[in-house]
Amino acid sequence: MACSTLRMVLGDQCSRALSALEDLDPAADVVLMAEVQDECTYVKHHKKKIVLVLSAMRHFARALRARGVTVDYVELDDPVNTGSLRGEMLRAVARHRPKRVVATECGEWRLEQDMRGWHEAADIEVEIRDDTRFLCRKQEFRAWAGARKGLRMEFFYRDMRRQHGLLMEGESPAGGRWNFDPENRKPLPKSIQPPPVPAFPPDAITEAVMALVAERFADHFGEVDGFALPVTAQQAATALADFVAHRLPAFGDWQDTMKTGESAMFHALISTSMNCGLLDPMAACRAAEAAWTAGLAPLNAVEGFVRQILGWREYVRGIYWLKVPEYRALNALGAERRLPWFYWSGETRMNCMHQVITDTRTHAYAHHIQRLMITGNFAMLAGLHPDDVDEWYLVVYADAYEWVEMPNVRGMALHGDGGIMGSKPYAASGAYINRMSDYCGSCRYDVKQAVGDRACPFNALYWDFIARHHDRFAGNNRMAMPVRTMERMAPDKLAALRQQAARFLSAMEAGEGV
Ligand SMILES: Cc1cc2nc3c(=O)[nH]c(=O)nc-3n(C[C@H](O)[C@H](O)[C@H](O)COP(=O)(O)OP(=O)(O)OC[C@H]3O[C@@H](n4cnc5c(N)ncnc54)[C@H](O)[C@@H]3O)c2cc1C
Ligand code: SF4
Repeated sequence: MACSTLRMVLGDQCSRALSALEDLDPAADVVLMAEVQDECTYVKHHKKKIVLVLSAMRHFARALRARGVTVDYVELDDPVNTGSLRGEMLRAVARHRPKRVVATECGEWRLEQDMRGWHEAADIEVEIRDDTRFLCRKQEFRAWAGARKGLRMEFFYRDMRRQHGLLMEGESPAGGRWNFDPENRKPLPKSIQPPPVPAFPPDAITEAVMALVAERFADHFGEVDGFALPVTAQQAATALADFVAHRLPAFGDWQDTMKTGESAMFHALISTSMNCGLLDPMAACRAAEAAWTAGLAPLNAVEGFVRQILGWREYVRGIYWLKVPEYRALNALGAERRLPWFYWSGETRMNCMHQVITDTRTHAYAHHIQRLMITGNFAMLAGLHPDDVDEWYLVVYADAYEWVEMPNVRGMALHGDGGIMGSKPYAASGAYINRMSDYCGSCRYDVKQAVGDRACPFNALYWDFIARHHDRFAGNNRMAMPVRTMERMAPDKLAALRQQAARFLSAMEAGEGV
């Protein structure tokens, strides 16, 4: 029998509040969910990321069915599965003969291009709706960006606070300030141990997906073993509640710190859930705000957390859709070096890189500062090509989708967008890493040395980076200090640093152990 509307739910759209499901009529409509090879392999995603998405999809389909919705679910190993979303949409249209297809816009430009051609391919009306799970629509961001010269996150964030009435006291920000960042950069005292994070052991559905992924994507990065991410909305809510109760109060103070074997620190671990639809971003913000109102968490922590979601998360999405496809090719610093193998293996003498890559391989997770100031900082200082670096980040993290990965990597970490995202590059030498982590204590390199066999590579690379891009940064007020320090350096000292950097980079390119 022909159905009325075929409603598509993509892998990162496991939300009951999805716009494509808004006017769902369980008696007349069919929901199509398809696991497809193309989406699992357009880059070789971390195995845990594929497990997460497929398991979340299967759980979501089960929850819809329990509410009486007809779900046509195509599994990955179904012999007639065409392997693409377009192919599965076409097959489902032939099966169900709907009057129309309804979908919610997707999160990646490459798929958006494909979806635009669906109505012609299927010869049917295809309605693609806004993704209302985000707090700022694409067109709202475009209007905000309008004729502005600079697109600084800070101003966007303030407008979002006002618009959504979050942490506001009338027209003013709670506590009289918009930003508590200066309070949020403390190093971690040795005596502080981050609390354990909740784990969600696999049920039978997840175990079946793990077996499928282990067999079918054996050559992908990482392992399925130890998978413990939330795969249902209920689990995601539990993860959020645990964060609010146990880690949020200290989130602000130590959000930039890193400790060996502690990838989570005081972070929320909710990006995987928000990005595939299991957790509503506004619910996360309101939960944090409620903790502050109840006196359970300080304002610097709560504001810092809300800023990440209402500010950064919405802002990077806005930038992505404002600037693609051109953004995908930006390489403002002319970085051309290929990604060294140790990004995949973790085999490097640089303990900070080794620790972060190992955490990443094990958990498909690293927290923001690990991503920005260790692997990202190294990539920028070493002049690694943004295409390689983008692909690495898209592969290795369970929360990675291009809309959020690319502005963070190409823009924030690599400064490859020439300053659209940030007014200055996030460049740092070993001293920063030593201040914010315990990594240097067990490193084969000496963080206090800049030249010589045991010198920390980040030191020479940092000054080489400043020297390489001197002309670009000389006119940037926010880079005035390092530029002036470099200019005042004795010429032979700078030459020695640059030779040290060149020796390190050629050893790295030759595949020698560095
Ligand atoms: C180089 C680089 C690559 C990144 N790639 C991704 C990615 O692929 N996917 C992704 O979701 N985040 C990415 N981020 C942002 C951030 O690192 C992660 O969102 C965060 O580490 C997720 O862990 P959490 O849930 O514990 O976050 P918390 O630190 O507890 O923050 C809470 C939430 O705020 C949001 N958030 C915080 N910072 C950002 C940001 N810069 N951009 C967008 N959202 C933010 C996330 O949704 C996060 O869950 C990247 C950052 C950098 C520097
Ligand atoms: S000494 Fe340098 S390379 Fe080693 S952990 Fe510290 S910053 Fe990293």
